[in-house]
Amino acid sequence: MRLVILGGVAAGTKAAARARREYPDADVTIVTQDEYVAYAGCGLPYFVGGEISEAKELIVRTPDEFKQENGINVLTRHQATRIDPATHEVQVRDLTTGTDSLFPYDKLIIATGAVPILPNIDGITLKRVSTVRGLTDAKKIRALLDTGKLKTAVVIGGGFIGLEMAENLGRQGLHVKVVELKAAILPGFDPEIAALAQKHLLEHGVEVFTGEAVTRILGNAHGEAIGVETNARTLEADLVILSAGIRPNTEVAAAAGINTDHRGLILVDEYLQTNLPDIFAVGDCASVRNRITGKDTYSPMGSTANKTGRVVVANLFAPTEAFPGVQGTTIVRLFKLNAARTGLSTDEARDAGFDVETVLVPTPDRAHYYPGNRMIITKLIADKPTHRLLGAQVIGEGVVDKPIDTLALGIAMGITVDQLSGMDLAYTPPFASALSSSLVAANVMLNKLAGKLRGVSPDQLALDDPMLQLLDVRSEPEFLISSIPGAINIPLQELLQRRDELEPTRPTVVVCKVGRRAYSAALQLQRLGFTDVRILDGGMTGWPYETE
Ligand SMILES: Cc1cc2nc3c(=O)[nH]c(=O)nc-3n(C[C@H](O)[C@H](O)[C@H](O)COP(=O)(O)OP(=O)(O)OC[C@H]3O[C@@H](n4cnc5c(N)ncnc54)[C@H](O)[C@@H]3O)c2cc1C
Repeated sequence: MRLVILGGVAAGTKAAARARREYPDADVTIVTQDEYVAYAGCGLPYFVGGEISEAKELIVRTPDEFKQENGINVLTRHQATRIDPATHEVQVRDLTTGTDSLFPYDKLIIATGAVPILPNIDGITLKRVSTVRGLTDAKKIRALLDTGKLKTAVVIGGGFIGLEMAENLGRQGLHVKVVELKAAILPGFDPEIAALAQKHLLEHGVEVFTGEAVTRILGNAHGEAIGVETNARTLEADLVILSAGIRPNTEVAAAAGINTDHRGLILVDEYLQTNLPDIFAVGDCASVRNRITGKDTYSPMGSTANKTGRVVVANLFAPTEAFPGVQGTTIVRLFKLNAARTGLSTDEARDAGFDVETVLVPTPDRAHYYPGNRMIITKLIADKPTHRLLGAQVIGEGVVDKPIDTLALGIAMGITVDQLSGMDLAYTPPFASALSSSLVAANVMLNKLAGKLRGVSPDQLALDDPMLQLLDVRSEPEFLISSIPGAINIPLQELLQRRDELEPTRPTVVVCKVGRRAYSAALQLQRLGFTDVRILDGGMTGWPYETE
Protein backbone atom coordinates (compact mmCIF):
# COMPACT_ATOMS: atom_id res chain seq x y z
CA MET A 1 0.00 0.00 0.00
CA ARG A 2 1.19 3.49 -0.83
CA LEU A 3 -0.14 5.73 1.93
CA VAL A 4 0.32 9.45 1.46
CA ILE A 5 -0.42 11.77 4.36
CA LEU A 6 -0.73 15.52 3.85
CA GLY A 7 0.33 17.45 6.95
CA GLY A 8 2.80 16.35 9.57
CA VAL A 9 1.93 17.82 12.96
CA ALA A 10 -0.46 16.02 15.31
CA ALA A 11 -3.03 14.14 13.22
CA GLY A 12 -0.75 13.31 10.29
CA THR A 13 2.12 11.90 12.31
CA LYS A 14 -0.23 9.96 14.61
CA ALA A 15 -1.77 8.32 11.55
CA ALA A 16 1.66 7.59 10.06
CA ALA A 17 2.95 5.95 13.21
CA ARG A 18 -0.07 3.68 13.57
CA ALA A 19 -0.10 2.87 9.86
CA ARG A 20 3.50 1.71 10.15
CA ARG A 21 2.56 -0.65 13.01
CA GLU A 22 -0.60 -1.97 11.33
CA TYR A 23 0.86 -2.28 7.84
CA PRO A 24 4.57 -3.06 8.19
CA ASP A 25 5.04 -3.36 4.42
CA ALA A 26 3.28 -0.12 3.48
CA ASP A 27 5.09 2.74 1.81
CA VAL A 28 4.21 5.66 4.12
CA THR A 29 5.01 9.24 3.11
CA ILE A 30 4.22 12.43 4.99
CA VAL A 31 4.17 15.56 2.85
CA THR A 32 4.21 18.81 4.80
CA GLN A 33 4.85 22.39 3.81
CA ASP A 34 6.20 23.23 7.24
CA GLU A 35 9.84 23.14 8.25
CA TYR A 36 9.01 21.17 11.40
CA VAL A 37 7.01 18.00 11.92
CA ALA A 38 5.56 16.25 14.95
CA TYR A 39 5.83 19.16 17.32
CA ALA A 40 3.58 19.89 20.27
CA GLY A 41 1.63 22.97 19.13
CA CYS A 42 -0.11 23.03 22.49
CA GLY A 43 3.21 23.70 24.19
CA LEU A 44 3.98 26.84 22.16
CA PRO A 45 2.64 29.38 24.69
CA TYR A 46 4.79 27.78 27.42
CA PHE A 47 7.88 27.95 25.23
CA VAL A 48 7.12 31.63 24.59
CA GLY A 49 6.67 32.08 28.34
CA GLY A 50 9.97 30.39 29.12
CA GLU A 51 8.50 27.50 31.16
CA ILE A 52 9.78 25.27 28.36
CA SER A 53 13.26 26.54 27.76
CA GLU A 54 14.22 24.95 24.43
CA ALA A 55 12.09 24.71 21.28
CA LYS A 56 13.52 21.27 20.65
CA GLU A 57 11.75 19.96 23.76
CA LEU A 58 8.49 20.42 21.83
CA ILE A 59 9.62 18.29 18.91
CA VAL A 60 8.43 14.75 19.38
CA ARG A 61 10.31 13.29 16.43
CA THR A 62 12.40 14.64 13.57
CA PRO A 63 12.13 13.57 9.90
CA ASP A 64 15.38 11.60 10.29
CA GLU A 65 14.00 9.76 13.30
CA PHE A 66 10.82 8.95 11.37
CA LYS A 67 12.93 7.51 8.57
CA GLN A 68 15.39 5.59 10.71
CA GLU A 69 13.09 4.32 13.48
CA ASN A 70 9.85 3.88 11.54
CA GLY A 71 10.75 3.75 7.88
CA ILE A 72 8.40 6.67 7.24
CA ASN A 73 9.39 9.20 4.56
CA VAL A 74 8.89 12.78 5.60
CA LEU A 75 9.10 15.54 3.05
CA THR A 76 9.25 18.92 4.78
CA ARG A 77 8.83 22.17 2.87
CA HIS A 78 6.77 20.26 0.33
CA GLN A 79 3.31 21.56 -0.40
CA ALA A 80 0.46 19.52 -1.84
CA THR A 81 -1.03 21.74 -4.54
CA ARG A 82 -3.51 19.41 -6.24
CA ILE A 83 -5.23 16.12 -5.57
CA ASP A 84 -6.39 14.08 -8.54
CA PRO A 85 -8.91 11.54 -7.19
CA ALA A 86 -9.33 9.93 -10.63
CA THR A 87 -5.67 9.00 -11.10
CA HIS A 88 -5.01 8.69 -7.33
CA GLU A 89 -2.16 11.20 -7.45
CA VAL A 90 -1.13 14.26 -5.48
CA GLN A 91 0.85 17.04 -7.07
CA VAL A 92 3.50 18.32 -4.71
CA ARG A 93 5.68 21.41 -4.94
CA ASP A 94 9.14 21.42 -3.41
CA LEU A 95 9.12 24.83 -1.76
CA THR A 96 12.92 25.02 -1.81
CA THR A 97 13.46 24.31 -5.51
CA GLY A 98 10.02 25.24 -6.86
CA THR A 99 9.75 21.96 -8.78
CA ASP A 100 6.53 19.95 -8.97
CA SER A 101 6.21 16.18 -8.86
CA LEU A 102 3.38 13.65 -8.69
CA PHE A 103 2.90 11.27 -5.78
CA PRO A 104 0.67 8.27 -6.50
CA TYR A 105 -1.36 6.95 -3.57
CA ASP A 106 -3.55 3.98 -2.78
CA LYS A 107 -4.85 5.69 0.34
CA LEU A 108 -4.69 9.40 1.11
CA ILE A 109 -5.08 10.97 4.54
CA ILE A 110 -5.58 14.73 4.60
CA ALA A 111 -4.31 16.28 7.83
CA THR A 112 -3.63 19.80 6.64
CA GLY A 113 -4.85 21.38 9.87
CA ALA A 114 -5.91 24.97 10.22
CA VAL A 115 -4.55 28.45 9.63
CA PRO A 116 -5.06 31.59 11.70
CA ILE A 117 -7.78 33.97 10.59
CA LEU A 118 -6.11 37.30 9.93
CA PRO A 119 -8.24 40.34 10.72
CA ASN A 120 -8.76 42.57 7.72
CA ILE A 121 -7.05 45.64 9.19
CA ASP A 122 -4.05 47.82 8.41
CA GLY A 123 -0.79 46.98 10.08
CA ILE A 124 -0.84 43.20 10.32
CA THR A 125 2.33 42.94 8.25
CA LEU A 126 4.29 45.20 10.61
CA LYS A 127 7.25 43.79 12.52
CA ARG A 128 6.45 42.63 16.08
CA VAL A 129 3.02 41.42 14.94
CA SER A 130 2.64 37.65 15.01
CA THR A 131 0.24 34.78 14.89
CA VAL A 132 0.90 31.77 17.14
CA ARG A 133 0.37 28.71 15.03
CA GLY A 134 3.66 26.89 14.62
CA LEU A 135 7.18 26.67 15.99
CA THR A 136 8.37 29.36 13.58
CA ASP A 137 5.93 31.87 15.09
CA ALA A 138 6.83 30.86 18.64
CA LYS A 139 10.57 31.18 17.98
CA LYS A 140 10.04 34.61 16.46
CA ILE A 141 8.10 35.82 19.50
CA ARG A 142 10.62 34.26 21.90
CA ALA A 143 13.47 36.05 20.10
CA LEU A 144 11.64 39.37 20.41
CA LEU A 145 11.11 38.81 24.12
CA ASP A 146 14.77 37.89 24.55
CA THR A 147 15.78 41.38 23.38
CA GLY A 148 14.38 42.60 26.73
CA LYS A 149 12.96 45.66 25.01
CA LEU A 150 9.28 44.74 24.97
CA LYS A 151 7.20 46.30 27.71
CA THR A 152 3.64 46.09 26.42
CA ALA A 153 1.61 43.62 24.39
CA VAL A 154 -1.88 43.47 22.95
CA VAL A 155 -3.45 40.12 22.24
CA ILE A 156 -6.21 40.23 19.66
CA GLY A 157 -8.69 37.50 20.57
CA GLY A 158 -9.77 36.14 23.95
CA GLY A 159 -9.97 32.46 23.04
CA PHE A 160 -7.83 29.78 24.66
CA ILE A 161 -4.69 30.48 22.68
CA GLY A 162 -4.96 34.24 23.07
CA LEU A 163 -5.43 33.93 26.81
CA GLU A 164 -2.61 31.39 27.21
CA MET A 165 -0.40 33.85 25.37
CA ALA A 166 -1.63 36.71 27.58
CA GLU A 167 -0.73 34.69 30.65
CA ASN A 168 2.71 33.75 29.37
CA LEU A 169 3.54 37.29 28.30
CA GLY A 170 2.19 38.67 31.58
CA ARG A 171 4.30 36.23 33.60
CA GLN A 172 7.34 37.75 31.97
CA GLY A 173 6.47 41.23 33.16
CA LEU A 174 4.85 42.63 30.02
CA HIS A 175 1.78 44.82 30.45
CA VAL A 176 -0.74 42.80 28.49
CA LYS A 177 -4.15 43.79 27.23
CA VAL A 178 -6.60 41.51 25.45
CA VAL A 179 -9.16 42.79 22.94
CA GLU A 180 -12.09 40.48 22.24
CA LEU A 181 -14.79 41.16 19.69
CA LYS A 182 -17.45 39.04 21.38
CA ALA A 183 -19.20 39.91 24.65
CA ALA A 184 -17.15 37.37 26.61
CA ILE A 185 -13.79 35.61 26.53
CA LEU A 186 -13.35 31.82 26.74
CA PRO A 187 -15.71 30.60 24.01
CA GLY A 188 -17.77 27.60 25.07
CA PHE A 189 -17.94 28.63 28.73
CA ASP A 190 -21.02 30.22 30.25
CA PRO A 191 -20.84 34.02 30.66
CA GLU A 192 -20.44 34.10 34.44
CA ILE A 193 -17.60 31.56 34.29
CA ALA A 194 -15.87 33.60 31.59
CA ALA A 195 -16.41 36.70 33.74
CA LEU A 196 -14.69 34.99 36.69
CA ALA A 197 -11.72 34.29 34.42
CA GLN A 198 -11.71 37.90 33.23
CA LYS A 199 -11.70 39.11 36.86
CA HIS A 200 -8.78 36.83 37.66
CA LEU A 201 -6.83 38.07 34.65
CA LEU A 202 -7.32 41.65 35.81
CA GLU A 203 -6.07 40.71 39.28
CA HIS A 204 -2.90 39.56 37.52
CA GLY A 205 -2.56 42.75 35.51
CA VAL A 206 -4.12 41.59 32.25
CA GLU A 207 -6.91 43.91 31.24
CA VAL A 208 -9.56 42.51 28.89
CA PHE A 209 -11.73 44.65 26.64
CA THR A 210 -14.73 42.69 25.42
CA GLY A 211 -17.17 43.73 22.71
CA GLU A 212 -14.39 45.74 21.04
CA ALA A 213 -12.89 45.42 17.59
CA VAL A 214 -9.31 46.24 16.71
CA THR A 215 -9.51 48.57 13.72
CA ARG A 216 -5.82 49.22 13.02
CA ILE A 217 -2.33 48.27 14.17
CA LEU A 218 -0.12 51.32 14.51
CA GLY A 219 3.53 51.31 13.44
CA ASN A 220 6.63 53.48 13.79
CA ALA A 221 9.09 54.68 11.14
CA HIS A 222 10.99 51.35 11.40
CA GLY A 223 7.88 49.41 10.43
CA GLU A 224 7.46 48.06 13.96
CA ALA A 225 4.16 47.80 15.79
CA ILE A 226 3.72 50.36 18.55
CA GLY A 227 0.04 50.06 19.35
CA VAL A 228 -3.44 49.17 18.27
CA GLU A 229 -6.56 51.19 17.74
CA THR A 230 -9.92 49.72 18.64
CA ASN A 231 -13.35 51.20 18.07
CA ALA A 232 -13.12 52.53 21.63
CA ARG A 233 -9.50 53.33 22.47
CA THR A 234 -5.83 53.32 21.55
CA LEU A 235 -3.55 50.85 23.31
CA GLU A 236 0.23 50.81 23.42
CA ALA A 237 1.81 47.60 22.17
CA ASP A 238 5.43 46.69 21.49
CA LEU A 239 4.10 43.28 20.49
CA VAL A 240 0.77 42.36 18.90
CA ILE A 241 -0.44 38.77 18.96
CA LEU A 242 -3.04 37.85 16.36
CA SER A 243 -5.22 35.20 17.86
CA ALA A 244 -8.57 35.90 16.30
CA GLY A 245 -9.49 32.32 15.51
CA ILE A 246 -8.57 29.72 12.94
CA ARG A 247 -10.09 28.24 9.83
CA PRO A 248 -9.62 24.83 8.28
CA ASN A 249 -6.86 24.65 5.69
CA THR A 250 -8.79 22.84 2.98
CA GLU A 251 -8.60 24.70 -0.33
CA VAL A 252 -6.67 21.89 -2.03
CA ALA A 253 -9.15 19.29 -0.77
CA ALA A 254 -12.17 21.33 -1.84
CA ALA A 255 -10.70 21.91 -5.31
CA ALA A 256 -10.49 18.12 -5.71
CA GLY A 257 -14.23 17.76 -5.16
CA ILE A 258 -14.08 16.76 -1.50
CA ASN A 259 -17.20 17.92 0.33
CA THR A 260 -16.71 20.77 2.79
CA ASP A 261 -19.17 22.77 4.87
CA HIS A 262 -19.77 26.54 5.07
CA ARG A 263 -16.63 26.93 7.22
CA GLY A 264 -14.52 24.97 4.74
CA LEU A 265 -14.38 22.00 7.08
CA ILE A 266 -13.92 18.67 5.30
CA LEU A 267 -17.03 16.58 5.93
CA VAL A 268 -16.26 13.01 6.92
CA ASP A 269 -18.39 10.12 8.12
CA GLU A 270 -17.86 8.42 11.47
CA TYR A 271 -15.08 6.36 9.89
CA LEU A 272 -13.35 9.63 8.91
CA GLN A 273 -13.80 8.96 5.22
CA THR A 274 -14.58 11.81 2.83
CA ASN A 275 -17.10 11.56 0.02
CA LEU A 276 -14.33 10.35 -2.32
CA PRO A 277 -12.98 6.80 -2.32
CA ASP A 278 -9.66 6.17 -0.56
CA ILE A 279 -9.49 9.74 0.79
CA PHE A 280 -9.79 10.36 4.52
CA ALA A 281 -9.47 13.54 6.61
CA VAL A 282 -8.48 14.02 10.25
CA GLY A 283 -7.49 16.68 12.76
CA ASP A 284 -8.12 20.41 12.52
CA CYS A 285 -9.19 20.26 8.86
CA ALA A 286 -12.06 17.79 9.33
CA SER A 287 -15.47 17.70 10.93
CA VAL A 288 -16.32 15.41 13.83
CA ARG A 289 -19.64 14.59 15.42
CA ASN A 290 -20.79 16.08 18.68
CA ARG A 291 -21.65 13.02 20.71
CA ILE A 292 -24.52 14.74 22.55
CA THR A 293 -26.27 16.57 19.70
CA GLY A 294 -25.17 14.17 16.95
CA LYS A 295 -24.40 17.16 14.71
CA ASP A 296 -21.20 17.83 12.77
CA THR A 297 -18.97 20.17 14.70
CA TYR A 298 -15.51 21.73 14.65
CA SER A 299 -13.08 20.51 17.28
CA PRO A 300 -9.67 22.00 16.46
CA MET A 301 -7.97 20.40 19.43
CA GLY A 302 -4.79 18.43 19.86
CA SER A 303 -6.79 15.76 21.66
CA THR A 304 -9.17 15.33 18.71
CA ALA A 305 -6.32 15.44 16.17
CA ASN A 306 -4.43 12.65 17.93
CA LYS A 307 -7.52 10.48 18.37
CA THR A 308 -8.77 10.84 14.81
CA GLY A 309 -5.22 10.33 13.48
CA ARG A 310 -5.13 7.05 15.30
CA VAL A 311 -8.65 5.84 14.45
CA VAL A 312 -8.49 6.58 10.73
CA VAL A 313 -5.84 3.94 10.14
CA ALA A 314 -8.24 1.17 11.17
CA ASN A 315 -10.63 2.26 8.41
CA LEU A 316 -8.36 2.48 5.39
CA PHE A 317 -9.65 -0.74 3.82
CA ALA A 318 -13.04 -1.14 5.47
CA PRO A 319 -15.15 0.84 7.94
CA THR A 320 -13.96 -0.86 11.10
CA GLU A 321 -13.52 1.62 13.95
CA ALA A 322 -16.05 4.43 14.31
CA PHE A 323 -14.85 7.65 15.88
CA PRO A 324 -17.31 8.25 18.70
CA GLY A 325 -17.17 12.05 18.43
CA VAL A 326 -16.35 14.85 20.82
CA GLN A 327 -18.12 16.72 23.58
CA GLY A 328 -16.00 19.86 23.78
CA THR A 329 -13.85 18.89 26.74
CA THR A 330 -11.19 21.55 27.25
CA ILE A 331 -9.06 22.97 30.02
CA VAL A 332 -7.00 26.10 30.42
CA ARG A 333 -4.71 27.60 33.06
CA LEU A 334 -4.67 31.36 33.52
CA PHE A 335 -2.14 32.36 36.17
CA LYS A 336 -3.49 30.69 39.35
CA LEU A 337 -6.90 29.96 37.88
CA ASN A 338 -7.87 26.71 36.20
CA ALA A 339 -10.97 26.43 34.03
CA ALA A 340 -12.36 23.35 32.34
CA ARG A 341 -15.50 22.40 30.51
CA THR A 342 -17.17 19.40 28.93
CA GLY A 343 -20.48 18.71 27.18
CA LEU A 344 -22.91 21.46 26.26
CA SER A 345 -22.91 24.99 27.64
CA THR A 346 -26.23 26.37 28.86
CA ASP A 347 -26.92 28.12 25.56
CA GLU A 348 -25.80 25.12 23.50
CA ALA A 349 -28.12 22.88 25.52
CA ARG A 350 -31.05 25.26 25.02
CA ASP A 351 -30.27 25.59 21.31
CA ALA A 352 -30.28 21.79 21.06
CA GLY A 353 -33.83 21.80 22.40
CA PHE A 354 -33.25 20.66 25.98
CA ASP A 355 -35.27 22.02 28.91
CA VAL A 356 -32.32 23.16 30.95
CA GLU A 357 -31.59 23.48 34.66
CA THR A 358 -28.24 24.68 35.97
CA VAL A 359 -26.40 24.92 39.28
CA LEU A 360 -23.26 26.77 40.29
CA VAL A 361 -21.71 25.30 43.40
CA PRO A 362 -18.52 26.42 45.14
CA THR A 363 -16.70 23.81 47.22
CA PRO A 364 -13.11 23.28 48.34
CA ASP A 365 -11.21 20.91 46.05
CA ARG A 366 -10.33 18.67 49.05
CA ALA A 367 -11.28 18.55 52.73
CA HIS A 368 -11.91 22.14 53.82
CA TYR A 369 -9.61 21.72 56.83
CA TYR A 370 -6.76 20.14 54.90
CA PRO A 371 -3.83 22.49 54.21
CA GLY A 372 -3.60 23.63 50.63
CA ASN A 373 -7.27 23.23 49.83
CA ARG A 374 -8.51 25.68 47.21
CA MET A 375 -11.97 26.71 46.14
CA ILE A 376 -13.45 25.42 42.89
CA ILE A 377 -16.84 26.26 41.42
CA THR A 378 -18.76 23.54 39.62
CA LYS A 379 -21.45 24.36 37.12
CA LEU A 380 -23.72 21.52 36.02
CA ILE A 381 -26.18 21.71 33.17
CA ALA A 382 -28.93 19.08 33.08
CA ASP A 383 -32.07 18.22 31.20
CA LYS A 384 -35.07 18.79 33.51
CA PRO A 385 -37.42 16.01 32.36
CA THR A 386 -34.85 13.21 32.13
CA HIS A 387 -32.27 14.47 34.68
CA ARG A 388 -29.59 13.69 32.08
CA LEU A 389 -26.33 15.51 32.68
CA LEU A 390 -25.58 17.56 29.57
CA GLY A 391 -22.59 19.69 30.47
CA ALA A 392 -20.22 20.77 33.20
CA GLN A 393 -17.77 23.59 33.81
CA VAL A 394 -15.33 23.78 36.70
CA ILE A 395 -13.30 26.86 37.55
CA GLY A 396 -11.09 27.87 40.44
CA GLU A 397 -7.63 27.88 41.92
CA GLY A 398 -7.99 24.27 43.02
CA VAL A 399 -7.77 21.06 41.04
CA VAL A 400 -10.27 21.08 38.18
CA ASP A 401 -8.94 18.41 35.84
CA LYS A 402 -10.01 15.51 38.03
CA PRO A 403 -13.66 16.57 38.36
CA ILE A 404 -13.96 17.58 34.71
CA ASP A 405 -12.60 14.24 33.50
CA THR A 406 -14.97 12.36 35.83
CA LEU A 407 -17.87 14.46 34.58
CA ALA A 408 -16.76 14.07 30.95
CA LEU A 409 -16.82 10.30 31.35
CA GLY A 410 -20.24 10.45 32.95
CA ILE A 411 -21.65 12.68 30.22
CA ALA A 412 -20.22 10.41 27.52
CA MET A 413 -21.98 7.48 29.17
CA GLY A 414 -25.30 9.39 29.32
CA ILE A 415 -25.32 9.59 33.11
CA THR A 416 -28.21 11.21 35.01
CA VAL A 417 -27.73 13.64 37.90
CA ASP A 418 -29.21 10.99 40.21
CA GLN A 419 -26.56 8.49 39.10
CA LEU A 420 -23.81 11.08 39.53
CA SER A 421 -25.00 11.79 43.07
CA GLY A 422 -24.54 8.11 43.92
CA MET A 423 -21.05 7.67 42.40
CA ASP A 424 -18.43 6.05 44.57
CA LEU A 425 -15.58 8.54 44.19
CA ALA A 426 -12.22 8.44 45.98
CA TYR A 427 -12.00 10.27 49.29
CA THR A 428 -9.32 11.07 51.78
CA PRO A 429 -8.66 14.63 53.09
CA PRO A 430 -5.55 15.46 51.01
CA PHE A 431 -7.43 14.64 47.79
CA ALA A 432 -11.14 15.28 48.23
CA SER A 433 -14.01 15.90 50.60
CA ALA A 434 -16.21 13.07 51.83
CA LEU A 435 -18.76 14.37 49.37
CA SER A 436 -16.61 15.46 46.47
CA SER A 437 -17.33 18.65 44.51
CA SER A 438 -19.20 16.89 41.69
CA LEU A 439 -21.43 15.01 44.11
CA VAL A 440 -22.30 18.16 46.06
CA ALA A 441 -23.17 19.88 42.80
CA ALA A 442 -25.30 16.87 41.79
CA ASN A 443 -27.17 17.05 45.11
CA VAL A 444 -27.87 20.76 44.68
CA MET A 445 -29.12 20.00 41.18
CA LEU A 446 -31.41 17.26 42.53
CA ASN A 447 -32.87 19.76 45.02
CA LYS A 448 -33.50 22.16 42.18
CA LEU A 449 -35.00 19.49 39.95
CA ALA A 450 -37.28 18.43 42.84
CA GLY A 451 -38.47 22.03 43.19
CA LYS A 452 -37.00 22.43 46.69
CA LEU A 453 -34.74 25.23 45.60
CA ARG A 454 -34.89 27.94 43.00
CA GLY A 455 -31.79 29.76 41.86
CA VAL A 456 -30.64 32.56 39.63
CA SER A 457 -27.36 32.56 37.79
CA PRO A 458 -25.14 35.65 38.39
CA ASP A 459 -25.42 36.71 34.75
CA GLN A 460 -29.22 36.60 35.00
CA LEU A 461 -29.57 38.61 38.22
CA ALA A 462 -31.50 41.77 37.27
CA LEU A 463 -29.90 44.29 39.63
CA ASP A 464 -31.72 47.09 37.86
CA ASP A 465 -35.16 45.64 38.74
CA PRO A 466 -36.57 48.13 41.28
CA MET A 467 -38.77 45.42 42.81
CA LEU A 468 -35.83 43.07 43.51
CA GLN A 469 -35.05 42.41 47.16
CA LEU A 470 -31.45 41.22 47.33
CA LEU A 471 -30.84 39.74 50.75
CA ASP A 472 -27.33 38.95 51.95
CA VAL A 473 -27.47 36.56 54.93
CA ARG A 474 -23.76 36.52 55.74
CA SER A 475 -22.39 38.04 58.95
CA GLU A 476 -21.93 41.80 59.09
CA PRO A 477 -18.09 41.64 58.90
CA GLU A 478 -18.30 39.45 55.80
CA PHE A 479 -20.82 41.85 54.26
CA LEU A 480 -18.64 44.88 54.98
CA ILE A 481 -15.65 43.38 53.18
CA SER A 482 -17.52 43.03 49.92
CA SER A 483 -21.14 42.91 48.84
CA ILE A 484 -23.28 43.17 45.74
CA PRO A 485 -24.51 46.73 45.12
CA GLY A 486 -28.00 47.19 46.52
CA ALA A 487 -27.93 44.16 48.83
CA ILE A 488 -29.55 44.33 52.30
CA ASN A 489 -27.63 42.55 55.06
CA ILE A 490 -29.61 40.47 57.54
CA PRO A 491 -27.43 37.68 58.96
CA LEU A 492 -29.10 34.26 58.89
CA GLN A 493 -29.37 34.08 62.72
CA GLU A 494 -31.31 37.38 62.79
CA LEU A 495 -33.65 36.62 59.92
CA LEU A 496 -36.70 35.61 61.95
CA GLN A 497 -36.53 38.64 64.29
CA ARG A 498 -35.89 41.07 61.43
CA ARG A 499 -38.32 39.63 58.86
CA ASP A 500 -40.40 42.83 58.93
CA GLU A 501 -37.58 44.61 57.14
CA LEU A 502 -38.47 42.54 54.04
CA GLU A 503 -41.58 42.52 51.90
CA PRO A 504 -42.99 39.02 51.33
CA THR A 505 -44.55 39.83 47.97
CA ARG A 506 -41.44 41.23 46.31
CA PRO A 507 -39.10 38.95 44.30
CA THR A 508 -36.34 38.04 46.72
CA VAL A 509 -32.87 36.71 45.91
CA VAL A 510 -30.80 35.44 48.82
CA VAL A 511 -27.02 35.37 48.78
CA CYS A 512 -24.32 34.10 51.14
CA LYS A 513 -20.74 32.97 50.62
CA VAL A 514 -21.30 29.66 48.83
CA GLY A 515 -25.06 29.00 48.99
CA ARG A 516 -25.61 26.94 52.12
CA ARG A 517 -26.85 29.76 54.37
CA ALA A 518 -28.83 31.23 51.49
CA TYR A 519 -30.63 27.89 51.05
CA SER A 520 -31.57 27.80 54.76
CA ALA A 521 -32.74 31.40 54.59
CA ALA A 522 -34.77 30.72 51.43
CA LEU A 523 -36.53 27.80 53.15
CA GLN A 524 -37.33 30.01 56.18
CA LEU A 525 -38.67 32.80 53.99
CA GLN A 526 -40.86 30.36 52.05
CA ARG A 527 -42.30 29.07 55.33
CA LEU A 528 -43.00 32.68 56.29
CA GLY A 529 -45.07 33.12 53.14
CA PHE A 530 -42.59 34.83 50.81
CA THR A 531 -43.89 34.01 47.35
CA ASP A 532 -40.89 34.41 45.05
CA VAL A 533 -37.61 33.38 46.67
CA ARG A 534 -34.48 32.32 44.83
CA ILE A 535 -30.88 31.96 45.88
CA LEU A 536 -27.96 33.45 43.97
CA ASP A 537 -26.20 30.49 42.37
CA GLY A 538 -22.56 30.33 43.41
CA GLY A 539 -23.00 32.91 46.18
CA MET A 540 -20.40 35.65 46.60
CA THR A 541 -17.70 33.11 45.68
CA GLY A 542 -19.14 32.77 42.19
CA TRP A 543 -20.06 36.46 41.78
CA PRO A 544 -17.83 37.80 39.01
CA TYR A 545 -19.17 41.33 38.73
CA GLU A 546 -18.90 44.59 40.60
CA THR A 547 -18.91 44.62 44.40
CA GLU A 548 -18.99 47.33 47.03
C1 LIG B 1 -0.65 27.92 20.59
C2 LIG B 1 -1.54 26.71 20.53
C3 LIG B 1 -1.92 26.09 21.72
C4 LIG B 1 -2.76 24.98 21.67
N1 LIG B 1 -3.12 24.38 22.85
C5 LIG B 1 -3.91 23.29 22.81
C6 LIG B 1 -4.25 22.61 24.02
O1 LIG B 1 -3.83 23.01 25.11
N2 LIG B 1 -5.05 21.52 23.93
C7 LIG B 1 -5.52 21.05 22.73
O2 LIG B 1 -6.23 20.04 22.70
N3 LIG B 1 -5.19 21.66 21.57
C8 LIG B 1 -4.41 22.77 21.58
N4 LIG B 1 -4.06 23.38 20.42
C9 LIG B 1 -4.59 22.86 19.14
C10 LIG B 1 -3.70 21.79 18.55
O3 LIG B 1 -2.38 22.23 18.50
C11 LIG B 1 -4.21 21.47 17.16
O4 LIG B 1 -5.52 20.98 17.30
C12 LIG B 1 -3.35 20.43 16.46
O5 LIG B 1 -2.09 20.92 16.22
C13 LIG B 1 -4.00 20.06 15.13
O6 LIG B 1 -3.18 19.16 14.50
P1 LIG B 1 -3.32 18.86 12.97
O7 LIG B 1 -2.28 17.84 12.65
O8 LIG B 1 -4.71 18.53 12.63
O9 LIG B 1 -3.06 20.23 12.22
P2 LIG B 1 -1.84 21.27 12.25
O10 LIG B 1 -1.18 21.28 13.57
O11 LIG B 1 -2.40 22.54 11.72
O12 LIG B 1 -0.83 20.70 11.18
C14 LIG B 1 -1.15 20.69 9.82
C15 LIG B 1 0.12 20.70 9.02
O13 LIG B 1 -0.22 20.54 7.67
C16 LIG B 1 0.57 21.40 6.88
N5 LIG B 1 -0.10 21.67 5.61
C17 LIG B 1 -1.20 22.43 5.40
N6 LIG B 1 -1.52 22.45 4.10
C18 LIG B 1 -0.62 21.69 3.45
C19 LIG B 1 -0.42 21.34 2.11
N7 LIG B 1 -1.24 21.76 1.15
N8 LIG B 1 0.62 20.55 1.81
C20 LIG B 1 1.45 20.10 2.78
N9 LIG B 1 1.31 20.41 4.08
C21 LIG B 1 0.29 21.19 4.41
C22 LIG B 1 0.66 22.63 7.77
O14 LIG B 1 1.72 23.47 7.37
C23 LIG B 1 0.89 22.01 9.12
O15 LIG B 1 2.24 21.75 9.34
C24 LIG B 1 -3.22 24.49 20.44
C25 LIG B 1 -2.81 25.11 19.24
C26 LIG B 1 -1.99 26.20 19.29
C27 LIG B 1 -1.57 26.86 18.00
